[in-house]
Amino acid sequence: MKKHDNLATDIYTSEAMHHAAPINRIPEEGTTPAVAYRMVKDETYAETRPELNLATFVTTRMDDEATRLMNEAIAINYIDQTEYPRVAVMCGRCINILADLWNSPEKGDWKTGALGIGSSEACMLGGVAAWLRWREKRQKAGKPCDKPNLVISAAYQVVWEKFCQLWQIEMRTIPLSPEHQTLDIEAAIRCCDEHTICVVPCCGVTWTGLNDDVEALDKALTNYHKESGNDIPIHVDAASAGFVLPFLDPQKKWDFRLDRVLSISTSGHKYGLVYPGLGWVIWKDKKYLPKEMAFSVNYLGAEITQVGLNFSRPAAQILGQYYNFIRYGRAGYKAIQQTSMEVAEYCHSQLEKMSCFAPYAKRVENPLFIWKMCSTYEKTAKWTLYDLQDKLKQSGWMIPAYTLPANLQHTVVMRVVVRHGFSRDMAEQLLTDIREAVAELDALKYPTTSRLKFEQAEHQCGKVYTH
Ligand SMILES: *Cc1c(COP(=O)(O)O)cnc(C)c1O
Repeated sequence: MKKHDNLATDIYTSEAMHHAAPINRIPEEGTTPAVAYRMVKDETYAETRPELNLATFVTTRMDDEATRLMNEAIAINYIDQTEYPRVAVMCGRCINILADLWNSPEKGDWKTGALGIGSSEACMLGGVAAWLRWREKRQKAGKPCDKPNLVISAAYQVVWEKFCQLWQIEMRTIPLSPEHQTLDIEAAIRCCDEHTICVVPCCGVTWTGLNDDVEALDKALTNYHKESGNDIPIHVDAASAGFVLPFLDPQKKWDFRLDRVLSISTSGHKYGLVYPGLGWVIWKDKKYLPKEMAFSVNYLGAEITQVGLNFSRPAAQILGQYYNFIRYGRAGYKAIQQTSMEVAEYCHSQLEKMSCFAPYAKRVENPLFIWKMCSTYEKTAKWTLYDLQDKLKQSGWMIPAYTLPANLQHTVVMRVVVRHGFSRDMAEQLLTDIREAVAELDALKYPTTSRLKFEQAEHQCGKVYTH
């Protein structure tokens, strides 16, 4: 507090608030908690209302009780298992519950899995395990292990590129096409060889919302094994659908019921309905988790076995996940995902009715979907989906427009992710705003800058149009 400030001074008139927040150097002197709070808070106001952010997959609302529970646990370090032994037990229960939801055949009281900060860490762990298992097998057979590769759709999430870069594994990507809107299985098999550590299908593809056909892939890999002798396992990246399929389509085989699926990862903070900072990976059995990945450490006098990239990590998300399992049960999760699915299907069908749009896929397989401009309309339109994205932003909606991965990189699409809390009424508001925005764009006399860029890219054949 400065000389002329006192306890009655309004915070915004205080001396400290007359200065900008530090950028490069730690300030010589501190300030009051109230000033520090205001400076940080004022800089981090959401730019839109999180409920109107239909770009993100990540949970922005939980029950008040769950929020309280997690706030109360904010200081708990998961790794301090001597201090908070029940948190480790609770984590083990969450792993058991997920293993059961994904039909794990593993016997024993505790199933094999690990938590991560998100699906990214969970995918890395699944990938590393596949690589180590492959390497061990090769070493035993006296074969070279210097050229591992991984086969995945070009619609992979960026974590797989990171995994392949960091662990120096060749990434073999299978392009999308109008005929193959999800992983082209025949093409995937053609990319497999004795150096393939695993194939990674995705359930709930980030780019499209669709599911790769894991059952068909499993079958194709078994045939390939018979012909070639190469026994290739599957890791399923189920960041979104891992919490959708078990509730909405329990008959569909995409999980541990399939022979080759040895590990599955998901995001607890997506359709697991927990605030950000939570992912899970489960192995079909302990024998598929390489021993090198389980680090036993003597920490503060206790023997702790840890699987993960990070050591310390927040425990609050585990409490949030376990709370949700108790709070919602199977019926509650089903009702929530079903509601999101119905809202997504409704929006999908309404947008399809608009003459300017065309759906990417006929079906909505998860509570998210994409659409594009209809090709006849696109020929004469004066605007692009990027213009629509900007217009919707003015009404607070965050709805991303982007181009698809290879070989559909010329297709611009928009995506809506329907999350828990996005009601039918809000969907109605969104559709009204979209119709109004389109009417305004249609009334334009001259093409937008974005449209001109698009036309330019079209003339220079083969050039990918970027915003
Ligand atoms: C979101 C996502 C990831 C990464 O997950 P995080 O939880 O954000 O770390 C990986 N794969 C897919 C398919 C995803 O949708």
